[in-house]
Amino acid sequence: MNSVTVSATQSTAARARAEIDLGAVRDNVRALRARAPRAELMAVVKADGYGHGAVPCARAAREAGAGWIGTATPEEAFALRAAGDSGRLMCWVWTPGGPWREAIEADVDVSAGALWALDEIAAAARAAGRPARVHLKADTGLGRGGCQPAEWPELLAAARAAEAEGALKVTGVWSHFACADEPGHPSIAAQLAAFREAVAAAERAGLDPEVRHHANSPATLTLPESHFDLVRPGVSVYGLSPSPEVGVAAELGLRPAMTLTASLALVKRVPGGHGVSYGHTYRTPGATTLGLVPLGYGDGIPRHASGAGPVLVAGKWRSVAGRIAMDQFVVDLGGDPAAAGDEAVLFGPGDRGEPTAEDWARAAGTISYEIVTRLGARVPRVYVNG
Ligand SMILES: *Cc1c(COP(=O)(O)O)cnc(C)c1O
Repeated sequence: MNSVTVSATQSTAARARAEIDLGAVRDNVRALRARAPRAELMAVVKADGYGHGAVPCARAAREAGAGWIGTATPEEAFALRAAGDSGRLMCWVWTPGGPWREAIEADVDVSAGALWALDEIAAAARAAGRPARVHLKADTGLGRGGCQPAEWPELLAAARAAEAEGALKVTGVWSHFACADEPGHPSIAAQLAAFREAVAAAERAGLDPEVRHHANSPATLTLPESHFDLVRPGVSVYGLSPSPEVGVAAELGLRPAMTLTASLALVKRVPGGHGVSYGHTYRTPGATTLGLVPLGYGDGIPRHASGAGPVLVAGKWRSVAGRIAMDQFVVDLGGDPAAAGDEAVLFGPGDRGEPTAEDWARAAGTISYEIVTRLGARVPRVYVNG
């Protein structure tokens, strides 16, 4: 059994692998807790832990003192329970007819930002014969999920009534920032003021939430007055800075946990003027050596980084030559010696001279969140320092 697992890993790891440093995850959680010493920490592991693997990352975060784990969907929360996670766990992306009863029975805290959700939660709790734990979500200005101020009193009254009946307990009042990754943005102070009002209204309505929470990674790192009782960092748990404006990962005390490498599938000499990859958008400027990297957009490598994505091969940064295809792309090695089987490092913490997920984000016109999160299931995750 064990040897089968190992040989399967080795055969796939020969093409490419994403090494996940769980020691870095633990250190990042400790660094974030030190930034928010009076608050509890909810490590957000939605979207399979931003591509790093939700179960091992949640376990590492718990080991480093995360009292809460957060997911987007209920299914993500149930997968953690099935893997043995028994701590405080919350999920927030719900649609009508969602698995409320399963969440109640699995001791998962849920979120409600509208009356329909409270009604469904109360009905599920009556059926389950035990109260739900509910975080009421205010829209303090993000304009995405959550309850608008005009409807908030009605939501509070309904929650208080359901609480009095024993159908639920309001365990949290919460919201989410729009622009915390741009420190000093005027919306930040406005959202905090709206949140304080939303909390005060909840208290006036007779609710006594256990946790009030508003801070994502950038707010955890830059805005102590947003910490309240609980902070909800996601991307920084994996060692990535939320934005250049918030800072450089190393200076924030964060270490990127993921290193993505591939094994060169082919190295060959080609003459000058040779077109490379679909559409021939790259032509070799002279006789050169091309290296074939066996990763493509089928693995989540963004095609938008065609002609631009950086890769460390044979001691130097190379750019993707021509288009990124579904399963492979090419780098121009400029005549440098290399051989099939040599390592190509797409990104990592950066301290071996390799590019970072941030460099790939810049090359693709996106954010580092997306670079790691979209990494496909075809790339095996290999855990170290577990
Ligand atoms: C994703 C998410 C977070 C974490 O955000 P980061 O910027 O990755 O720290 C926190 N709260 C909610 C509601 C989220 O959806």
